[in-house]
Amino acid sequence: MRVGIPRSLLYYKYLPFWKTFLTGLGLEVETSPMTNKKILSSGVKIAENELCVPVKAFYGHCAALKDKVDALFVPRVVSVEERAYTCPKFLGLPDMIAAAADSMGLPPLLTPKLNQREKPSEFKWQLINFARREFGLGRLDAVAALETAKLAQRRYQDSLAAGRKPVDLLPLSRLNRPRRRPARTGARRVGLLGHPYNIYDGYITQNLIARLEEMGVDLIVPEMTDHHILMKAATDVPKQLYWSYEKEIMGAINHWTETGQVDGVIYVLAFACGPDSLIQVLIEHRARAHKVPLMSLTIDEHSGEAGLVTRIEAFVDMLMRKK
Ligand code: SF4
Repeated sequence: MRVGIPRSLLYYKYLPFWKTFLTGLGLEVETSPMTNKKILSSGVKIAENELCVPVKAFYGHCAALKDKVDALFVPRVVSVEERAYTCPKFLGLPDMIAAAADSMGLPPLLTPKLNQREKPSEFKWQLINFARREFGLGRLDAVAALETAKLAQRRYQDSLAAGRKPVDLLPLSRLNRPRRRPARTGARRVGLLGHPYNIYDGYITQNLIARLEEMGVDLIVPEMTDHHILMKAATDVPKQLYWSYEKEIMGAINHWTETGQVDGVIYVLAFACGPDSLIQVLIEHRARAHKVPLMSLTIDEHSGEAGLVTRIEAFVDMLMRKK
């Protein structure tokens, strides 16, 4: 059986885990191509207009896989830690895709529910039960697939903590790579904030990472900092956030500004994103309090290249002049 993993949303966080786990269950895994005009346009046509651009892209990635696979992997990721949730879009993603499945001609969906809100150990049983229920695997085989997948994810996260970016490690991410050279010595250090599916999707962000690196910017992203450090730094806000991925973003700017690691911050946020719009205020406040220049870039499916290039050039110029 061939299973498709759409190259969007939590793909950028968990591909090594999901791919290794599904392969361990005896499945072949196919991922959709990099986001391109056709994929995004097909997603925009099908998805509700009010949705954020990465969810629209997710629809397009499902469409790109539909004739190549026997099933699509669309997990319901409710919570990835105790007493916190993911964005409501991740909770409803299988339902949104299922509602459009007939009109899109999609194959069946595999939708394991992952919820660690009450108890982190539940995650293990949720996946083992999924493997047994859907594929009739024995418990030991399911546990072996799970443990191998955890190792693959740990290796991925170790590489990120050692300074690599997801786009350096995930397959086919060449659009995001610098075309000419790495950052110059003495270049300005810029923290790039945002959800991984926004900042690492080269089409959605008009190749932002490559452009910044070509300008000689030394980029730092949240994944380069240990997760526990980010979580601890995220508590330095007036009221605790209960969205896990937003905590990572908040933790990153708190940590960077506290330790003086960055000369400026670029925050990429999706138009119509509720969680982003709430933490944007906190991020602006933090940057102002630490006198760190901040540029917020709001993206949607209409974002144009010219506007983005002008803005990032002006921002980087300003940082260089300040130096
Ligand atoms: S966090 Fe924002 S950008 Fe991400 S899926 Fe939810 S609404 Fe969309």
